[in-house]
Amino acid sequence: PSPLDRDQQQGIRAIRDFLKVRTSYDVLPLSFRLIVLDTGLLIKKSLNILTQNSIVSAPLWDSDTSRFAGILTATDYINVIQYYYQFPDEISKLDQFRLSSLRDIEKAIGAIPIETVSVHPSQPLYEACRRMLKTRARRIPLVDVDDETGRETVLSVITQYRILKFIAVNNEQNTVMLKKCVRDINLGTYTNLATARMDSTVLDAIHLMVEHNISCIPIVDADNRVLNAFEAVDVIPCIKGGAYEELDGSIGEALCKRPDESPGIYTCGEGDRLDSIFDTVRKSRVHRLVVVDDDNRLRGVISLSDILKYVLLEGEEDSGPQT
Ligand code: ATP
Repeated sequence: PSPLDRDQQQGIRAIRDFLKVRTSYDVLPLSFRLIVLDTGLLIKKSLNILTQNSIVSAPLWDSDTSRFAGILTATDYINVIQYYYQFPDEISKLDQFRLSSLRDIEKAIGAIPIETVSVHPSQPLYEACRRMLKTRARRIPLVDVDDETGRETVLSVITQYRILKFIAVNNEQNTVMLKKCVRDINLGTYTNLATARMDSTVLDAIHLMVEHNISCIPIVDADNRVLNAFEAVDVIPCIKGGAYEELDGSIGEALCKRPDESPGIYTCGEGDRLDSIFDTVRKSRVHRLVVVDDDNRLRGVISLSDILKYVLLEGEEDSGPQT
């Protein structure tokens, strides 16, 4: 192997070793708040609560059974939107749906439920990452059992974003060794890209996300130049206030509803090295990278799961395609 390959392997191995000696608990900040929503809450109200608190997801709590009831994410709202379009006669019922109805909505539209995997906070972080990549779950709740009551408690939720940030911040000496470029390690997706235009409707973007099972649609112009990207979480401000008919509006209008603190999109080139991607993750709130050429034309998409998969599974026996 070339020195480049050797360094790359060594860097990756060191990061894996790091993940094996750290726990999910280590990823948590010293002080944090956790907003948990009761499943008795109206779906309509949950939208306001997420927006007011600048969050895009929350663990659910079933107070009838005193149990953790899964995680609310943008996918659930996308399911509600699909329901609305499949069963237009039920529109009057829509306002009355509670978070406890989400599983029924999922069934009614025939969506494949995202498996709820949870981990114990003291399990190695490596295990949490492997489980994340084996399932479609992109957020894993840390569930502990209270010694006295024997009841489950949700301590926090770890995401791919938090894990990659944690790796980036604590492994600078290892990530500098990852000098192979995006093209050479084939990081990301470059074929059959789902894209939309600024004047496409929000509903078009949602259909693409559902159909391709992805959470981001690059928005391009007639020359395939990247203008922005529409993400699953961008759906939340669109339907706040129950304005489902506004989904016929354009993506351009919808992107104007992004919260002020929204980080926007990050791009990179195919010649960029993995270490520089880790630099971006270290410094910014990046949730995916849109790969462009020198003329800003769309080449591909690198999601956080692509990066995590590479770091964890490259060269391993089960590194084949996973969903
Ligand atoms: P999330 O971004 O929600 O945390 P994720 O990391 O799995 O989840 P997705 O955007 O759902 O990201 O990407 C899943 C897979 O689909 C990745 O391999 C990614 O490269 C690919 N992908 C992402 N966006 C597109 C797109 N617009 N067209 C084609 N493939 C895409």
